Amino acid sequence: MPRSFSRRFIQHGLLLCTSAIGTGFLGQYILQKNTLNAYNHPLHKPAVWLDDYPSREAQIDIMSKESEYDIVVIGGGATGCGVAVDAASRGLKVALVEKYDFSSGTSSRSTKLIHGGVRYLQKAILQLDREQYHMVKEALSERGNLLKIAPHLSYPLPIMLPVYKWYLLPYYYAGIKAYDFVSGRQLLRWSYVISKNKALELFPMLKKEKLVGAIVYYDGQHNDARMNIALAFTAAHMGANVANHCAVTEFIHENIQVNNKEGQTETKKIIRGIKCLDRYRNKEFSIRAKCVVNATGPYTDVIRQLDDSSVPKICQPSAGVHIVLPDYYSPNNMGLLDPNTSDGRVIFFLPWQKHTMAGTTDTPCEITDYPSPMAEDVDFILGEIKNYLSSDVEVRRGDLLAAWSGIRPLVLNPNKKDTQSIARNHIIHVSDSGLVTIGGGKWTTYRQMAEETVDRCIQSANLEPKNDCITKGLVLSGGEKWSPTSYIRLVQDYGIETEVAIHLSNTYGDQANKVADLSILTGKRWPVVGKRLHEEFPYIEAEVHYAIKEYARTAVDILARRTRLSFLNVIAADEALPCVIQIMAKELNWNEKKQKEETDRAKTFLLREMGLNLKRDMRRNVPINFTREEMRYYMKHFRQIDVENKGFLTLSDLKRHLQRMKISNSVSTTDSDISPEELRILMHEVDQNQNGIIETEEFLQLMSAINTGAVSTSHFIKAARIAKIKNNSMVERSGGGV
Ligand SMILES: Cc1cc2nc3c(=O)[nH]c(=O)nc-3n(C[C@H](O)[C@H](O)[C@H](O)COP(=O)(O)OP(=O)(O)OC[C@H]3O[C@@H](n4cnc5c(N)ncnc54)[C@H](O)[C@@H]3O)c2cc1C
Repeated sequence: MPRSFSRRFIQHGLLLCTSAIGTGFLGQYILQKNTLNAYNHPLHKPAVWLDDYPSREAQIDIMSKESEYDIVVIGGGATGCGVAVDAASRGLKVALVEKYDFSSGTSSRSTKLIHGGVRYLQKAILQLDREQYHMVKEALSERGNLLKIAPHLSYPLPIMLPVYKWYLLPYYYAGIKAYDFVSGRQLLRWSYVISKNKALELFPMLKKEKLVGAIVYYDGQHNDARMNIALAFTAAHMGANVANHCAVTEFIHENIQVNNKEGQTETKKIIRGIKCLDRYRNKEFSIRAKCVVNATGPYTDVIRQLDDSSVPKICQPSAGVHIVLPDYYSPNNMGLLDPNTSDGRVIFFLPWQKHTMAGTTDTPCEITDYPSPMAEDVDFILGEIKNYLSSDVEVRRGDLLAAWSGIRPLVLNPNKKDTQSIARNHIIHVSDSGLVTIGGGKWTTYRQMAEETVDRCIQSANLEPKNDCITKGLVLSGGEKWSPTSYIRLVQDYGIETEVAIHLSNTYGDQANKVADLSILTGKRWPVVGKRLHEEFPYIEAEVHYAIKEYARTAVDILARRTRLSFLNVIAADEALPCVIQIMAKELNWNEKKQKEETDRAKTFLLREMGLNLKRDMRRNVPINFTREEMRYYMKHFRQIDVENKGFLTLSDLKRHLQRMKISNSVSTTDSDISPEELRILMHEVDQNQNGIIETEEFLQLMSAINTGAVSTSHFIKAARIAKIKNNSMVERSGGGV
């Protein structure tokens, strides 16, 4: 190593160490001072709080009859619902319409972090960028607020930055301490450095080679879709009229005479309201309002151009893919983030809802109603994950439980001269017709965005609010009487399983007893009530009934957002679908045609948007690549099941075979019988083309997929105890799988 280089290296190292230690001490000192002097926003409720709200259909009837609202919001994501909450809490008359379900867009497909952005702070410091610094500071302040106003849906999450080069340790430490410092009085917990051994104790599946230590810091995490629904119903409790499955199709314009700057009169086209289609009842209606807010995320330009077809596009959509893996890929309560991979991307894997969620940063995309994860994205994430995990952990494609894509609505700022630069934060733009567009931003800062948007509405439409903004500290629906031990009352008072009670309490907060009230007797000694939708998940049938009261109108609403089943395990969601359809059909009077339509729509959603097609393709694309001996071995087993030598297997063959092997007690509740439901699940798993029979090729495909890791767990194998086929297989081969 040349001497000048080594001197420079030591100088930089010393500088970093000194700055790290300095930042640490200074940060802690100022922070303690801040905390002592802190003024924490009190938690409070607004002037109006209705105990109940009208049904979805009643809301639409009210909206269409109301003479004029102060504000009508288009879009029921985090931003739109945040605006509705803000406006209603200021005593303004507000309505909101959402084309699909609340949170069906980007807001249910986020990384679920409530954060300031460690990476952005790094940039702010390194590039001495004040704007970036203020963005992080604002987001950190909002992070603290959101954790307080929705304590049932959000919590602090420790995240580990593994460090593999000793000289990076002080560098990261300085950055993370600065993050603590900028959080000020909204700090969640102090960050800390840990040794290699401690890091491996906390995160046993981490790769140990070359690990020097790690830094642990805290951000918030939440259930994004449920948070969004809580916002929608907080607005409804405060008297806002909100409805999902209503698409805006047209604006109501009026020509008015105004004086221009030169003092001449000219005609101006002003927005006076919107025309909507109730997609559930296929009925059109109109809403009149003094001010219309466009909070449609990736659809920002579609709505802007519906108002004025000549305006230039400002939204640059960018898609991010997440995959979900079993819980054993990460510890229960510790995330992992590498803010700077070798190719400059961020990679993370985080525990969420007892699973592991992994993903990376976004790539530009086109706007679509059906964002779909691509096989390349999934492979990229799986490939990256391998770099962080110990070689004991085999990363298998078959472990993929679900995958989804979300579109980030990045926007160019039309208020700026340099219209080509993407706004780092959110933008608010008022068009000539009076349309107020709020674009960009992030989940964490929805409240701040909403406050600024309502301020602009008040200014541009001369509205008269009853009070100033009070959303900082305004507790969301479900949060007021919730405590971390609330679930115990559910177990004691209703006889609900502990796991289910924790889930209900952490989802519905102090409203969980309303769900429990709807739950039916299980017929068992324990639990007394709370029949599960799927045996592996704590979601219960009563939640479907409750979701219908919360305006759920499609099976996808239930599978994706009211429960998070499709986001956690797409196969389990597919299996729970018939039960969901059955309950909804009864409650909503669906005839057979409607039930079939809903089933088909939900299946398409699971295939296209939740990664079911990827899971199927993974298996289909595994070549059947056996030696002659292996082939003979598997075919012998096939023929044992196919006693009539038909060349394919039927449901009865499976049942007969399983009974003959006397293995049914491993999958069934009775000793000798396999329930029709269990058989259906087994059949569904193997019968890829869903034609009701298992052809030889499908059988061999499953065996091959299991051997290569493209399928990791198999009900069929478990049930038929033919797992030994795999263990006995003579040649270990990859066969194109992982
Ligand atoms: C991959 C990814 C990860 C992210 N992770 C995080 C994170 O960890 N933390 C964070 O803070 N932020 C995160 N974000 C950013 C955050 O999710 C978004 O900024 C936020 O959800 C955007 O909310 P929105 O309400 O503006 O848009 P959306 O949620 O998309 O809502 C817009 C709504 O408008 C509706 N709509 C469209 N057209 C019409 C119409 N004609 N009529 C009626 N309604 C209509 C849509 O159906 C949609 O529901 C992430 C974003 C992505 C893409």
